[in-house]
Amino acid sequence: MNLVRDNALGVYISIPFCRSKCTYCNFASGVYPASEHERYVGRLVQDLGQAGAWAKSMAVELPRRVDSVYLGGGTPSLLAPKLVTQLFAALRSQFDLAPDAEITVECAPSQIADETLEALVAAGVNRVSLGVQSFIDREAHGSGRLHSRAIVLDDIKRLRAAGIANLNVDLIAGLAGQTSASWEESLAVLIDAGTPHASVYMLEVDEDSRLGREMLSGGARYHADLVPTDDAIARMYEVAIEKLGKAGLRQYEISNFSCLGSESRHNLRYWQRRPYLGLGLDASSMLRETPQAADAAELPSVLRSTTTDDLAKYLAGEPLAETAWLSPGQQHEEAWFLGLRLNAGVEVAALKREFDPEMVAAAMEVVEQLTADGLLTSNRKSVRLTPRGRLLSNDVFQEFLGLCVSRR
Ligand code: SF4
Repeated sequence: MNLVRDNALGVYISIPFCRSKCTYCNFASGVYPASEHERYVGRLVQDLGQAGAWAKSMAVELPRRVDSVYLGGGTPSLLAPKLVTQLFAALRSQFDLAPDAEITVECAPSQIADETLEALVAAGVNRVSLGVQSFIDREAHGSGRLHSRAIVLDDIKRLRAAGIANLNVDLIAGLAGQTSASWEESLAVLIDAGTPHASVYMLEVDEDSRLGREMLSGGARYHADLVPTDDAIARMYEVAIEKLGKAGLRQYEISNFSCLGSESRHNLRYWQRRPYLGLGLDASSMLRETPQAADAAELPSVLRSTTTDDLAKYLAGEPLAETAWLSPGQQHEEAWFLGLRLNAGVEVAALKREFDPEMVAAAMEVVEQLTADGLLTSNRKSVRLTPRGRLLSNDVFQEFLGLCVSRR
């Protein structure tokens, strides 16, 4: 899938507040008092107000029409109702939200107050992503989560009763103490809950997390000694693909599964290289150079920017950490490693229309080798990861990096 031009924008807003820190988490999130929530939303409102001027100064297109919004984090459902209202009012004052815009909020089960839920619905939120991770209480508690299976199922009922039926449940394969039997039980409860979307992540232990540090030092805190092996985690992932697929939740991306038509519109933007603006802590943006700024003969450059992950800096009004312009060669590499994440794969004819055919020809040599290795498969239309390629996707993507150094 290689969609490039878009007259609509996706907006990602990071809310980096959590009630407690999960053992495996390395996100820029933490436990902060309500006064910080207020200051933070105040800054977001300012950033929203300045987004247009910033885009102009960088000579990038910032479509006013927004068709997807994603509040992630962190735990956005911890925001007080008045902050939710303030944030969405600012968003709507700066952008035109399409009437059918997908508006997602990440919520932690057991941390969605009735008043906040009311404010979210009133603000137009129509999709919720629940960070469940496991339906087995001891696994959820062991990783620092504060909910039980009963609470999650009750929250799903509450959300549906409030009119939000478009729900996602996140699960993690590889939590400490997880077994193949407990994993299958979690999948069965998920399927029974009947949400139209599920995300399954294979635990990647990061050395910046408490669990990662404990595993590296060979300790047993946070049940680090009970983390399943990589092979066991890979098997759990394969079981998820099989069971979810049979239940009508077909895999459409390495970690994402949905009923037909319930794919995450916002997340598809990332893999289809469609523009998005990221606001708040540790948020990324991808925006295209305006046609006026681009040389008529050249593919417009792409600006990727990331905001700081330091809350104090962010609150002090220094949001931007990094900006980089991607050359056509770098855009071509991205088209491969982002597009291959999707089960639909990469459409070669579309790449040939967009990029220098020599670049595409160089990539096709890599495709040939990876196909011989059993990691990619192709038909006349598209190139896709094989099931084994999905398990080794980072190695596959690595092969597409640095392809076009001479053409940058
Ligand atoms: S809720 Fe999410 S962001 Fe917060 S600590 Fe847990 S994993 Fe990290």
